[in-house]
Amino acid sequence: MRLMCTPSDDEDIPDQYHAALPDDRWHDSVQDPDAAGVAEAAQETVLGVLWQVWPVCLEHRTGVHAHAGADERAVWWCRAGEGHVLCEVGELAQTLPGRQRRALRRKERRRER
Ligand SMILES: [Zn+2]
Repeated sequence: MRLMCTPSDDEDIPDQYHAALPDDRWHDSVQDPDAAGVAEAAQETVLGVLWQVWPVCLEHRTGVHAHAGADERAVWWCRAGEGHVLCEVGELAQTLPGRQRRALRRKERRRER
């Protein structure tokens, strides 16, 4: 996914940021391009364009939400039960089961070549 910005012509309206798929489709936008905002934009695009809930807490089988933690770090938050941090935004690969994580790493290595 790529982060895109639609600059605003009106100084009263902030610039809008979208997370676009490789085919340039995107859905919804955020005004704050910090980690939680970007994560939220990516989630909106996956939901709005691909109709998929992402990311998911594998333990509770439910969608999680980007959330700015108390120490300003953005985390994916699972609301199941009393709620818990799934991982920091950007660290989702770590939450995958070993086999999927290794497959993802292989794919990334191929892309880097
Ligand atoms: Zn959970």
